[in-house]
Amino acid sequence: MIVGEIYDIIMRSIVYTMDLRGYSDINLRRKDLEKALKTKLSHIGNYSLNAKTASTKNCENMIGAVQIPLGVAGPLKIISSLQKKEVFVPLATTEGALVASVNRGSKAITQSGGTSVISKKVGITRAPVFVVENIIEGEKIMKWVKDNFNEIKKIAEKTSAHLKLLDINPWMIGRNLFLRFKFDSQDAMGMNMATIACTIAADLIEKKTKAKLVSISGNLCVDKKPNMLNFIEGRGTQIWADCVLSKEIVEKILKTTPEKFADVVTRKVYLGSILSGSIGANAHAANVLSAIFTATGQDIAHIAEVSSVVTTAEIVKNGLYVSVFLPDLVVGTVGGGTNLSTQQEAFSILGVAGGDRGKNSQKLAEIIGGAVLAGEISLIASLSVNSLACSHRKLGRGGK
Ligand code: NAP
Repeated sequence: MIVGEIYDIIMRSIVYTMDLRGYSDINLRRKDLEKALKTKLSHIGNYSLNAKTASTKNCENMIGAVQIPLGVAGPLKIISSLQKKEVFVPLATTEGALVASVNRGSKAITQSGGTSVISKKVGITRAPVFVVENIIEGEKIMKWVKDNFNEIKKIAEKTSAHLKLLDINPWMIGRNLFLRFKFDSQDAMGMNMATIACTIAADLIEKKTKAKLVSISGNLCVDKKPNMLNFIEGRGTQIWADCVLSKEIVEKILKTTPEKFADVVTRKVYLGSILSGSIGANAHAANVLSAIFTATGQDIAHIAEVSSVVTTAEIVKNGLYVSVFLPDLVVGTVGGGTNLSTQQEAFSILGVAGGDRGKNSQKLAEIIGGAVLAGEISLIASLSVNSLACSHRKLGRGGK
């Protein structure tokens, strides 16, 4: 296809976006593309989600939807101060054997009495970067921000009925001043809310001081990048989950022994991760996280940071102790992609849909922690008896 044709399609798309609303422009745009590319996009055009909502809130130049198979693992018993229940976990994935793996781990955990989960809400962060004249001026501005925290908080919180400014952490390097804002965004993941509030706050800081805003995101947020800052300070919600599996359960359900399991954790999870310079040390946390994120409409790009998980295991007198620590879990039960119809149904499987003064997003984070633990348990067990390739051949290739 020639460049002019592509340009025409883009231009027509823009015109459709401006002139037409809802379902019809999506179909017209897709048909245009089919014609120009001489291809059929009939599966992409076949979906049941609310096209008007999706095309105005989630995706520009929409032409349809892709489908990802959804499986369910469980029941998984979660025990925390917020909830004590057995849940089924929806997992959207194209990786054969993943759902089976989380299912097997859930069975081992639940038959052992469940996983204890502790959650701590840290808050969502946004860190604008300002340029200042020099370090003396920068120090004056940091003092102004500290002295006027309540005024900044007042205007930032005017932007939302659900957002609270918790803290502004300053960081100066040469003529660059980073202000790391931290918010409680209740049940929303909160990045849009934080960005809107920070924009208003940055306006005030520019008006009242000599700081000049360079970028509303200064990469010290840190949003959607692997990093040590969130690992140490936390972001969103921090999760700790653990369980003790009896020797019988390890042998019967996981087909291994506590000794073999702990050996893989020491040599692969700890040493391999140290040698590779990984942030965190785990077997495949990103797998489980991305499948739940996709199923429940979270922002998938956050996997870059949320997957810095640490898994531990050791032999204890009554069996095998296994734990996971998730330092940086940014999730919501309202807002963003959570409003889409299939994602709403996934929430109804979990029983945490909608807002509840921040409790629902915390409950979701706890369930995700439990599911990550289940995934870690099953994969490490499989590696310890060298059955990974066999189960992937069986489940991922339809037995071939
Ligand atoms: P959002 O959909 O933009 O905002 C959440 C909305 O839910 C707000 O309007 C809020 O009300 C409302 N709400 C209702 N009940 C609530 C409750 N119980 N708790 C909290 N809010 C409640 O979502 P967001 O979480 O702020 O942002 C998520 C989106 O941001 C995702 O689509 C993600 O892809 C995107 N994102 C944006 C950036 C960015 O820089 N802008 C960066 C990364 C990701 P109020 O009107 O009272 O606030």
